[in-house]
Amino acid sequence: MDKKRLLLATGNINKIEEIKDILKDLPLEILSVKDLGLERIEVEEDGETLEENAIIKAKSLADKFEGMVIADDSGLFVEYLNGEPGIYSARYAGIDATDEKNNNKLLNKLKGIPLDKRKAYFKTVIALIMENGEITTLTGICEGYIGFEPKGNKGFGYDPLFIVTGYDKTFAELGEEVKNKISHRAKALEKLKIKMKKILEDDGNENSSSK
Ligand code: IMP
Repeated sequence: MDKKRLLLATGNINKIEEIKDILKDLPLEILSVKDLGLERIEVEEDGETLEENAIIKAKSLADKFEGMVIADDSGLFVEYLNGEPGIYSARYAGIDATDEKNNNKLLNKLKGIPLDKRKAYFKTVIALIMENGEITTLTGICEGYIGFEPKGNKGFGYDPLFIVTGYDKTFAELGEEVKNKISHRAKALEKLKIKMKKILEDDGNENSSSK
């Protein structure tokens, strides 16, 4: 059977490895923007939701590629702050934001707020555009709360502040192995795997019935 082509709209090595690993048993040729020299295509992520931004990213590549395309967008949503930083998670502290500045801003906004009001969740949306142009989104959520100070030295972004429900440790304390089983991204990727299997099965059935 010919492998179907899947383009990942990311140049982030960690994301590429994580996606390749989860889809490794499927007959897919997985390519990233790096493999195609498309990483310089700039898109303005001006959507109002993670869904819109993931679709914008995937669409920017879909007409430049023969095959399926996926793009993802993630963010941290804090209940007490009405969903901030949300779609602005990467640049919460402004254009020169760093992980440290973003974390400090979040801590300042939650100063004096007790634990029971510090609920938060991470969300990832993966947008998949199929060869016929059909668009599907797959969502993963990981619930927790925001700690009073950074803890742990693994991971990135808000990991040192995000305490995972049921583990009572931050993502930065839990480390990659545990995180990759329970994270918002892992959950969205599991759904992507199920969707991909179905697409490939349906495709196989269509091909065999048209013979
Ligand atoms: P992206 O869409 O995956 O690039 O995520 C956007 C921003 O959300 C990142 O720059 C981080 O600030 C934050 N973020 C997303 N996922 C995570 C995570 O797993 N841990 C910590 N921060 C995250």
